[in-house]
Amino acid sequence: MKKNLLIWFALLPCMAWAQFDTYFESASLRVDYTLTGNDKTTTFALKELIREPYWSGSKVNLIDNLEYGNYIVKVFEHETDHLLFSKGYQNLYGEWQTTTEATLTTKTFEESVIVPFPKVKIDVVLYRKTWEGELVEGLRLPVSPDDYFIRKADDLKLSVYDAWIGNADVTKAVDIVILPEGYTEAEMGKFVKDCNFFVKSLFDYAPYDRYKQSFNVRGLMAPSAESGCTEPGAHVYKNTVMRFSYWTFDSERYCMSTDNRDIRDLAGQVPYDQIYILINSPKYGGGGIYNFYCSSAASNSFSGDIIIHEFGHGFAGLADEYYDDDTYGDMYNNDLEPWEPNITTLVDFGAKWKDMLDKKTPVPTPREKKYEQTIGVFEGGGYEAEGVYSPHMDCLMKTFKGHEFCPVCQRAIERMILYYSE
Ligand SMILES: [Zn+2]
Repeated sequence: MKKNLLIWFALLPCMAWAQFDTYFESASLRVDYTLTGNDKTTTFALKELIREPYWSGSKVNLIDNLEYGNYIVKVFEHETDHLLFSKGYQNLYGEWQTTTEATLTTKTFEESVIVPFPKVKIDVVLYRKTWEGELVEGLRLPVSPDDYFIRKADDLKLSVYDAWIGNADVTKAVDIVILPEGYTEAEMGKFVKDCNFFVKSLFDYAPYDRYKQSFNVRGLMAPSAESGCTEPGAHVYKNTVMRFSYWTFDSERYCMSTDNRDIRDLAGQVPYDQIYILINSPKYGGGGIYNFYCSSAASNSFSGDIIIHEFGHGFAGLADEYYDDDTYGDMYNNDLEPWEPNITTLVDFGAKWKDMLDKKTPVPTPREKKYEQTIGVFEGGGYEAEGVYSPHMDCLMKTFKGHEFCPVCQRAIERMILYYSE
């Protein structure tokens, strides 16, 4: 019996390979859509379908078993309803819904999901998780591969800088595209240096340093008309290629953009799994949303730490481990286990880092000096001082003091690297 099981498991990757080639091409289908709503309602609407030239995701791990994120895209074969592909993600719209503005008005945000380009008729279905944790269908979209309304992505004829190529097979690597925001044509040399700084910073941290061969980092030479970045709170407005802006949601250091189409049009010029925007500014700031995009100031003294902290959000779905008494209000439903791998409400702690905990460590673990180097369950995390727990007294997801990820975050990052590179 055991022997048979082993053979069966050994065959699995081959079967999955065959499945990719049966159903998909090595290209991407980009679904551009809008989310319109406020703090109570959300409506999805299709904008456009685009065929992009590359597929850089895994050809083996087509189903996302991690299921991180409050949004998920699933692809079913239309004829049989078999699940062919899935991937979880987060978005800027979901963050906006927690702001005061969302209680006062209605807004539209544009975003995209990328799935492998189908060879057969498929249904692309987008789901959203409610506050109570229920998965609700938001948009169902039958797609025929021969539909002539699927637009072919424009070739923008931009130069690409290969900052780091660890594995030429893009389906077995984490492919990061770095996009330049607020670098003029004359500043492209600085952008190349900043891409090199990104690579150096990434591999300065464990566990990334052990997986250099599982990463590719490409910079896309897309100049802006003006240098720098928009700062509305300081009355500074810049004409830049992706229109990033500090003071996003009126938070000075939060620097994001709602210009989804330009970001995606640029990113799609190269194979990519993760989008990273370097902002040509010395002003402290950035942001990172799981499987959406990350941004960071490139010329701040903390840039190396900010870059990798934000990538923790965007790539590995890590939560912030810091907390405050009342700055943010309710970010998590304490009756549910949050999806982020490095925080817990203890509702389903077994699914988190319980297996890494020493039996003698008390739960919850007091924030005392003797537990400084211990994996524990420390109350406070995910912006909340009570009811949400984090695994370590310090971590790059909390402060920049220690310059390292805690062991729980390291394991989560490692799992994500394997998901892309198997
Ligand atoms: Zn951590």
